[in-house]
Formats: sequence, C-alpha cells, structure tokens
Amino acid sequence: MNKKRDNLIAGNWKMNGSLKQNSSLITDIKRTEGLDKGISELLVCPPDPYLSQARSLLSDVNIHLGAQNVSKEVNSGAFTGEVSAKMLQDLDCSYCIIGHSERRAYHNESDDIITEKFFRLLENKITPILCVGESLEAREFGNYDDFVLSQLERVSNKIGIDKFLNTVIAYEPIWAIGTGVSASSEQAQEMHLLLRSFFSDSIIADSIRIIYGGSVKPSNSKELFSMPDIDGALIGGASLNSKDFLNIYKSSF
Ligand code: PEP
Repeated sequence: MNKKRDNLIAGNWKMNGSLKQNSSLITDIKRTEGLDKGISELLVCPPDPYLSQARSLLSDVNIHLGAQNVSKEVNSGAFTGEVSAKMLQDLDCSYCIIGHSERRAYHNESDDIITEKFFRLLENKITPILCVGESLEAREFGNYDDFVLSQLERVSNKIGIDKFLNTVIAYEPIWAIGTGVSASSEQAQEMHLLLRSFFSDSIIADSIRIIYGGSVKPSNSKELFSMPDIDGALIGGASLNSKDFLNIYKSSF
C-alpha cells in the first residue's frame, strides 16, 4: 500500500474488560508480527480504570495507549468523577478519542464541550481523535455531507484550522456503529475526501489522518484501507477479539 500517511489501527474497547480479560487480550495482541517494523500504528483505548494496567503490559512493545474520553476541565480540582488530560499524559497516553457519537448522544456532549476537550489534549501533547459522523436520517435524507462538515466546522471555528496539524479525525457514520453494517469503501472514501478537502492548507490536508469507524471487520478492512483517503480504522466490537483485531491490523499494510 502506497500512502502518504501511516495507517492508525485503533481499538475502542468502550465499557468492556476486566483485569483478567485485558491481560489476555493484550498478551495476544503483543504477539503481532510486524509491530517492530512500525508499518502501521496500533493503538488500544481501554476504559480509564485499566489504563494503568494496560500501560504496564505495553511497556515493552510498540503499541500506543489511548483514552476514550477526557475532562474539559484543566489539570486538577473539584470535578468529581472527571479525568484530566494531564492525568492521561501522566499515564503516557498518546491519543484520546473525543466526540464519539455515544458520548454526544448519552452524555449530551456539544461541539463546544468537544472543542474544550480538544484544547486540553493539545495542551498536554495528546493527539485528539475527533469523531464525526452522520445519523441515519441525514444519510437517508441526503444531507450527510453538510451534517459532517458542520460538526468539523463548529470545532475548527473555535480552535483554528492550524490546530488540526497532526491530529486524527474519525469518520464514523452513526448508522454503521455496532450495527454490523459498514459504509461501503466508496461511501467512506467520498466522506474522507470531503473531510480532507475541508483543510485548504495542503500541509494539514496531506498529513491529517482520517480513519474510518463503523463495523470494521477482517472481511471488509482491506478494501477500506485500499482507499486513498482512508488512513486506518477506529474499531469497537472487533477490537475485543485479538484474532479479528490483528487480522484487521495485518490488512492495513
Ligand atoms: C466505535 O464504537 O467507534 C465503533 C466503530 O464500533 P464498531 O466497530 O463496533 O462498529
């Protein structure tokens, strides 16, 4: 595969796992061939209580650690239940997912809140993975491109386009998340190109990684990754199965 950008293969474990399950999953993932060659980047995002466990298990291997969420508040303080970007940095998290559709839907996360989180991550040198993606209604109605572009615009208007340099966008159509129905590689490519074209600065456009999420499996990953603007995947369900996750990883190079 001849792409300008290294693929990022990211596992979003969501609210799953236990000390025992995580240990066996990570042990299996560590056996992956090609990790040392750094062909594609591999990332796991466990729930917060397990970040420390995952950090120790990953200490001797080239697999990144990421979080699924971060507080919009700065550093530390009276914010019960929150986890700051500074704490994630302390645990050596390189990435953090923000704006996942489940957080937008179940925790009322607005674009303003997501923008604050984006800032906190940059301040702490953690790469944001900003999720955008249209609802089924928007897809069926045909205004899905406006839907997704305006999500991106509402963040970039506040944060400034230049802050997107070296960050990651995950295009995750809501109708494809956890449904078993993935976007076709053509549908995904169309949206990734649209998102990339949003960045008029060619340095940002060429370097930003736009990964696809929504029912990625070993049976559809290779075709998705063969598209010129798809730079990897954000994987939910299949990232909990080491064999599937690794087969997706292997199909990325
Ligand atoms: C996700 O939650 O980001 C996701 C893409 O889930 P799944 O792979 O299960 O569709």
